[in-house]
Amino acid sequence: MTARVIDGRAVAARLRERLAAEIASLPFAPKLVVLLVGDDPVSAVYVRNKDKAARAAGFTSETERLSAATTEAALLARIAALNDDPEVDGILVQLPLPRHIRTEAVLDAIDPAKDVDGFHPLNAGLLAIGRPALVPCTPKGVMTLLAEAGVPVAGARAVVIGRSNIVGRPMAALLTLADATVTLAHSRTRDLAAECRRAEILVVAAGRPGLVRGDWVAPGACVIDVGINRLADGRLAGDVAYAEALPHAGWITPVPGGVGPMTIATLLANTLAAARARRGVGAIA
Ligand code: NDP
Repeated sequence: MTARVIDGRAVAARLRERLAAEIASLPFAPKLVVLLVGDDPVSAVYVRNKDKAARAAGFTSETERLSAATTEAALLARIAALNDDPEVDGILVQLPLPRHIRTEAVLDAIDPAKDVDGFHPLNAGLLAIGRPALVPCTPKGVMTLLAEAGVPVAGARAVVIGRSNIVGRPMAALLTLADATVTLAHSRTRDLAAECRRAEILVVAAGRPGLVRGDWVAPGACVIDVGINRLADGRLAGDVAYAEALPHAGWITPVPGGVGPMTIATLLANTLAAARARRGVGAIA
């Protein structure tokens, strides 16, 4: 048996087309503002890609580049102004921030109704109690991939590796909401291989290239590889030993071309949802 490879680029393209069609029918263009502090080259690439995708789908998108010397107070003041600006629907502060700025203080300052990354504690809390509002893009994108690939989630045994607030923790919450039976594994999990072998859905977000070996994958399981790791030779690799897992899995996402493209498309979906909710044209879905 060889796994069906889930084409994240194709699913993301379809989602962006749906969003573009919706925006074309609205009396306004939802507006996203991205704040990029400092000159981390990887962040700059991410921000450029977000901006490009947003414009292509009909959003108004602005990127504000702030110097690495920007103070926390100045950044908070800029966020407060964007919170108050009725034209702005979504605010995203690109992470990581320079070390002298407290990430938590910044995330807490974003109006939860404009928090299109879903990292504000109010949105995280709503998700945790089963009343999701704006949900982190990467795990929400994974749920879309599962649905589009026709992977049965309700009742399935799911294992998530990684418990970050950005991926693992909200991923476990979303799978729980979708009626999976969820195990959340991390670096202190005693026998990770044994946990994985029980999984019908295995979502890996550890940031460790090749962590999950082929024989950790149960026959027919759905393997979602969130990891993006730059190897010494410059190639990108996921957290799953892809070639090894392929003959075991029922479905698998490649890296690149799996989860990655879904993150930006889902950011756009969140921005549209936030705009609709704020402007009174439909609740957050
Ligand atoms: P973090 O470093 O914040 O979290 C990693 C998590 O994995 C932690 O909970 C950690 O456990 C756990 N972990 C690390 N090593 C092991 C191990 N050997 N065994 C079991 N668990 C382990 O990373 P992120 O969640 O931010 O990102 C994870 C990966 O996903 C990265 O490769 C990142 O680049 C990628 N990513 C991809 C995105 C996309 O769009 N496709 C978006 C965001 C991230 P503990 O808590 O115990 O330390």
